[in-house]
Amino acid sequence: MLPTTADVVIIGGGVMGVSTAYHLATRGCRNVVLLERAPFLGSEATGKCAGGIRYQFSTEINVKLSLLSLPLLARFEEELGQNIDLRWPGYLFLLDNQADLATFRGNVAMQNRLGVPSQLLSPGQVTRLVPLLYLDDIVGGAYHAGDGLADPGGVVQGYASGARRAGAQLFTGVTATEIHVQGGRVVGVTTSDGTIATPAVVDAAGPWAGQVAALADVDLPLVPLRRQIVVTTLTGVPSDFPFVIDFSRSLYFHREGQGILTGQSNPDEKPGFDQSVNRAWTELHLEQAMMRFPLMERAGLLREWAGLYEVTPDAHPVIDGLSDPAGFYVVAGFSGHGFMHGPIAGQLIAEMILDGRANSLDLHPLRLSRFAEGDLVREHNVV
Ligand SMILES: Cc1cc2nc3c(=O)[nH]c(=O)nc-3n(C[C@H](O)[C@H](O)[C@H](O)COP(=O)(O)OP(=O)(O)OC[C@H]3O[C@@H](n4cnc5c(N)ncnc54)[C@H](O)[C@@H]3O)c2cc1C
Repeated sequence: MLPTTADVVIIGGGVMGVSTAYHLATRGCRNVVLLERAPFLGSEATGKCAGGIRYQFSTEINVKLSLLSLPLLARFEEELGQNIDLRWPGYLFLLDNQADLATFRGNVAMQNRLGVPSQLLSPGQVTRLVPLLYLDDIVGGAYHAGDGLADPGGVVQGYASGARRAGAQLFTGVTATEIHVQGGRVVGVTTSDGTIATPAVVDAAGPWAGQVAALADVDLPLVPLRRQIVVTTLTGVPSDFPFVIDFSRSLYFHREGQGILTGQSNPDEKPGFDQSVNRAWTELHLEQAMMRFPLMERAGLLREWAGLYEVTPDAHPVIDGLSDPAGFYVVAGFSGHGFMHGPIAGQLIAEMILDGRANSLDLHPLRLSRFAEGDLVREHNVV
């Protein structure tokens, strides 16, 4: 039964919500309530994602989020007793033009300065790493052996179980429908199952975070954008095949079981909540995939699905505690790479709520007011 009061109500049961619940509860926050409207936790963007985890970003703030978040995934099983199928095959960006090569040279220098040993590869080095790919047009690559993959379902399960063990209450099949504000402060949430009085609400609603923010009269510029994935059966792919991103085509591959998982972002996709598979796009995507990875002509189609990115104007998230209304926290807008940053994002929100500020990282670049101020720096490495 839904409680009538809570210290914190978290709206959304994807990686952001369960990580926040876990970090709040394990730090001793007594009455944490999470609401997920779907029948299962982690069944939206988190459950539909490709599972990639990387340090290779173009902005310092994203590299810093990775520097804090990926070690939490590395010790996840030890801390939470949950296997997350963690692998470190590395990430390889394939670059087919001099402009991208120059940009990635700058990115690699910045990553190295922050302590990430990524490197720029010559076409010959790229060929030695991924000889199965068509590479005649490639002018170089960016590679980091310490990037990898993890299982989103395991991460959600681990945090949800850990949060429950520490006393948090997580509800599925419950929709938040209203947020109540009095005198500039959050005072409660009305749901499909009743009203909860609370001084703190966390908007962790992923692609729907803009709608949830609007319930508190907050303008959160974030749009949902459909993205598709195809999983194929294919033999002959080496077990150490890296996560490959054909950067100018927004096309990617990684090993999934014995086969290959591939995705490609449709540049003509318009914002919207439609999650049906666009078959015409699948065909174009697979044509490009076979051009880059000729072995895929022998692949069988196993599964395909569509999910939603949660995209902000600068492709960076908002991790913020607002003053208007006070008690309203936002952890959303990760723009297609939030699974990997979910662990630290939940910890940072817990710090804001319990300590009054995020102590682990300066979150100034991720404040909500940057949009109104026009103080934006765009992330370049979005796939
Ligand atoms: C195809 C695809 C591939 C991706 N690949 C990667 C990748 O390789 N690596 C990576 O790091 N990231 C990747 N991402 C991005 C990543 O999935 C997201 O950034 C991340 O999962 C967002 O987590 P979330 O918890 O914010 O959102 P979600 O997992 O969507 O959770 C939000 C939840 O809020 C619930 N909700 C919404 N409104 C309400 C309401 N009113 N009341 C109650 N509940 C509500 C929803 O049902 C949902 O379950 C990918 C995404 C997609 C779609």
